Amino acid sequence: MSETAGSDLALLLRAASFSADRHRHQSRKGDDPPPYINHPIEAASILANDGGISDVTTLVAALLHDTVEDTSASSEELERDFGPEVRRLVEEVTDDKSLEKLERKRLQIEHTPTLSTAAKQIKLGDKICNTRDVVENPPSDWSLQRRRDYLDWAERVVAGCRGTNAGLERYFDQVLSEGRDVLGREREV
Ligand code: NDP
Ligand code: ZN
Repeated sequence: MSETAGSDLALLLRAASFSADRHRHQSRKGDDPPPYINHPIEAASILANDGGISDVTTLVAALLHDTVEDTSASSEELERDFGPEVRRLVEEVTDDKSLEKLERKRLQIEHTPTLSTAAKQIKLGDKICNTRDVVENPPSDWSLQRRRDYLDWAERVVAGCRGTNAGLERYFDQVLSEGRDVLGREREV
């Protein structure tokens, strides 16, 4: 293995370890929720395995994509440990938590078309995971209508990511279409 490939792997593992540490007290929402870290690992894995992405900066940022939004990690820390490009990418996909939730969701639709290609790919990986979760293992207290609304919203965010990775876009379309079929058969309780 070349020295560059070796240092890329070392960086990737350091990012996985940092993310696991920062998310260590968190779980995903849902019945029998998995540890939170499963989600960023899954998102990064989808980028590599379904999107064919091998750019280490993108994969490292995918592993770290929720650390600034949801943990004590700061942008400065990410820059110090992983460099300015990783910091910039994570910042691109981080919502402004001082805003009200519905406003944040509206802004995601509006801002996504302006993101860099790598940030759009991370968004795609994130929305693939979350759409699948909303269908298969949803937050415990969500109504059927709320899950359907989430799929509609994710579709609108992903519309702003089109043209960046055919494999990921195809995968999202498949998850969305199968998800709508499944939710279409479910009945509100
Ligand atoms: P939220 O944005 O509150 O939650 C979805 C996010 O939670 C995902 O994007 C994901 O983000 C994270 N997440 C953690 N665990 C899971 C999981 N198991 N499955 C899916 N996502 C998970 O959801 P809404 O879009 O519904 O909320 C938007 C606003 O609308 C809120 O203010 C809410 O109170 C309000 N609302 C909406 C209703 C509706 O019918 N649509 C009904 C009631 C309220 P990440 O990847 O960043 O972790
Ligand atoms: Zn996420």
